[in-house]
Amino acid sequence: MSQETERVVLGHGDGGRLMRRLLSEHILPGLSNPLLSEAGDAAILPALHGRLAFTTDSYVVSPLFFPGGDIGCLSVYGTVNDLAVSGARPLWLSLSFILEEGLSLEVLKRVLVSIAQAAAATDVQVVTGDTKVVPRGAADGMFINVSGIGEILEPAPSGLASIEPGDCLIVSGPIGRHGVAVLVAREKLALDPPPTSDCGPLHIAVDALRRSRVRVLAMRDATRGGVAAVLHEWAEGCHCGFTLDENQIPLSSDVRGACELLGLDPLHLANEGTMVLVVPRDVSAAALAALQAAPQATGAAIFGAARLRGTVPVTVRRGLGREQPLADTLHSPLPRIC
Ligand code: MG
Repeated sequence: MSQETERVVLGHGDGGRLMRRLLSEHILPGLSNPLLSEAGDAAILPALHGRLAFTTDSYVVSPLFFPGGDIGCLSVYGTVNDLAVSGARPLWLSLSFILEEGLSLEVLKRVLVSIAQAAAATDVQVVTGDTKVVPRGAADGMFINVSGIGEILEPAPSGLASIEPGDCLIVSGPIGRHGVAVLVAREKLALDPPPTSDCGPLHIAVDALRRSRVRVLAMRDATRGGVAAVLHEWAEGCHCGFTLDENQIPLSSDVRGACELLGLDPLHLANEGTMVLVVPRDVSAAALAALQAAPQATGAAIFGAARLRGTVPVTVRRGLGREQPLADTLHSPLPRIC
């Protein structure tokens, strides 16, 4: 194989023969479906009955591969999860690559296999896309943008305005796993075994809630900024505050250990397959049971409640019972986490 075909070159993005070969040999084979095969300037999608959800995200995670995932499956699950927690059945994705000249085609191939597997696992189709190549140094290996469309399945979460004091906060599993996994991989910290990201799909867990007919008031995947960012955003958007109980927050032993070692608060660390939801107290046990029976949410727990707003929007009862304000950080402790 010549140097030219082992690595991404600028010509792979110029719309000519090299680009067509990159598409036909590397990008399209694993993703094929009738809508993508049309290869028009736009994907023509069938009409749907329900309301639509539409989301977009750019993925710049460093490193590209980390324990528990990689930029490929992350880009699919991240977008699918944004649709799922909005109450939608994820259907169609766009996939846009910005590739750095010199990137190994082997790396691109591994990422594409991961994208195809994640799309199959979540029953979504990549229906349109784009590939650009930028000169060496203008990107870091690869960046991916994924947009997604889903159909809202009623009843969708009723919204922040419906949250009342006493409503329960539920988290779908142990928190902070993605942030710790990427940090340890990036800094090459010698933790054995290395912490694993929670990178994974939430659509089945959301479906389980829907089928259990539990009334969900608000639901959000706790990505950048972690659970703390979700609760601060919610507190700004509703008339309640929140109090959490540190003792009830599920934590894996590797995240607990890494946080103690590095002085991090898992409430501020990113998750990529963990969501937070608010449900009325009288259905909280049913919601918990539905989640715990679903993949990706077996470790779900009630960890706090909505309360009258007061002066401090989010507080946390720490280990020894003292209630403290939960910091609303200005910036993430970890850039390029997703
Ligand atoms: Mg989200």
